[in-house]
Amino acid sequence: MVRNINTLVIGAGQAGLAASEHLFNHNIDHIILEKDRIVERWRTSRWDSLVANGPAWHDRFPTLEFSELNQDSFASKESVVRYFEKFAKKINAPVYENVNVLEVTKGNNFFLIKTSNGEYEAKNIIVATGAFQVPVIPNIIPDHSKLDQLHSQSYKNPDQLKKGAVLVVGSGSSGSQIAEELNREKKEVYFSIGPHDRPPRRYRGKDNVWWLGVLGKWEAKTPNPGTQHVTIAVSGYDGGKTIDFRKFANNGITLLGMTKEYKNGNLYFEDDLKMNIKNGDKNYLGLLNEADEYIKKNDLSLPEEPEARNFVSDHSCITSPILKLNIEKIGIKSIIWATGYKHDFNWLKVDVIDKGGKPIHQNGVAETPGVYFLGLPWLSMRGSSFIWGVWKDAKYVVEHIANR
Ligand SMILES: Cc1cc2nc3c(=O)[nH]c(=O)nc-3n(C[C@H](O)[C@H](O)[C@H](O)COP(=O)(O)OP(=O)(O)OC[C@H]3O[C@@H](n4cnc5c(N)ncnc54)[C@H](O)[C@@H]3O)c2cc1C
Repeated sequence: MVRNINTLVIGAGQAGLAASEHLFNHNIDHIILEKDRIVERWRTSRWDSLVANGPAWHDRFPTLEFSELNQDSFASKESVVRYFEKFAKKINAPVYENVNVLEVTKGNNFFLIKTSNGEYEAKNIIVATGAFQVPVIPNIIPDHSKLDQLHSQSYKNPDQLKKGAVLVVGSGSSGSQIAEELNREKKEVYFSIGPHDRPPRRYRGKDNVWWLGVLGKWEAKTPNPGTQHVTIAVSGYDGGKTIDFRKFANNGITLLGMTKEYKNGNLYFEDDLKMNIKNGDKNYLGLLNEADEYIKKNDLSLPEEPEARNFVSDHSCITSPILKLNIEKIGIKSIIWATGYKHDFNWLKVDVIDKGGKPIHQNGVAETPGVYFLGLPWLSMRGSSFIWGVWKDAKYVVEHIANR
């Protein structure tokens, strides 16, 4: 039997749940199909010690507070899961768990959705299957090497790794938090750093997420449709600290440039470490300058913080960068690739995906009437793939559905 529904939401992560709240607000008949459990990615695709990148007052939906937390603290992943479970209960979200959407095709006036538990027809579909779907590991080191290679998505804690040194590749929030954790646990850590932004955690008494808000950076529009998520090294660890790779080096982590190639047991690195650190500083100082200007322009009385502009000195691994490492000699046994994700929309057999596999849409509204996307990086703005941002995008998308 084929079941009929006005709007079918695929995925019960934060994006699907946000959509549900707005669909209820417009009295739109809907269900959410989830192949695993509600917010599965927060449950099983994060490392054990992960905390949210933004404080509790910010990394949430506007309609529910993190009541169990100090609002300036950073929620653990368990706390994020509890938060969304509570939210789903509060709105009575019509989630069907353990139902995998296998194929969506277009009929005359509806979409036909084949699932692991029967078929549906829907006037609208909202694709909320996540931005970070398939882990990407660059094709650099052959599988037959003796190294254990894992993606940051599968990293849980230091005990999981073999005894010996570890190379972490990728200097976004994941790579930098994992490298720091391994260093703290007395592992010998090599850390390959690419281009990154590294905004201050706090400046002049205000958190980074506050600055991004008042400076209009969260709501910055996509410069070109399909622009990729920019790697930002930011952390809520230890109550939240600014990431400064120089300090990582002074604490014993060996910094390296981008990982280039592997040949005969040797790893080669680009000579770009100094430049990547310098550009990271430029981004950091740029934000301080913009913040100072904002304070001046708006006549705010926020405490001065000149020491934020002092950097510790460069470690020798920065001034004389290592370009080649012999894996056996150094004793590297594991590599953690914190190198991002790609999409997988193979199941979506509707003409809304370009040749490169990316969805074609404007602010989440596809050209094919009735198809919507949520949760993608830069869907409508920089904040689109984050907790608070997806709620705003969901509001827009559902208003579009209501007006169809
Ligand atoms: C390591 C990491 C840390 C992050 N930290 C933060 C943070 O601190 N603050 C913040 O605001 N954001 C953070 N994010 C970004 C973002 O908030 C999360 O990625 C979040 O999980 C995205 O939610 P989503 O609902 O868009 O997608 P997902 O959480 O990926 O949910 C999609 C759901 O769809 C389901 N699904 C997929 N395919 C199908 C199918 N065919 N049929 C049925 N169901 C399907 C999946 O099982 C999944 O449950 C982080 C991201 C990562 C990777």
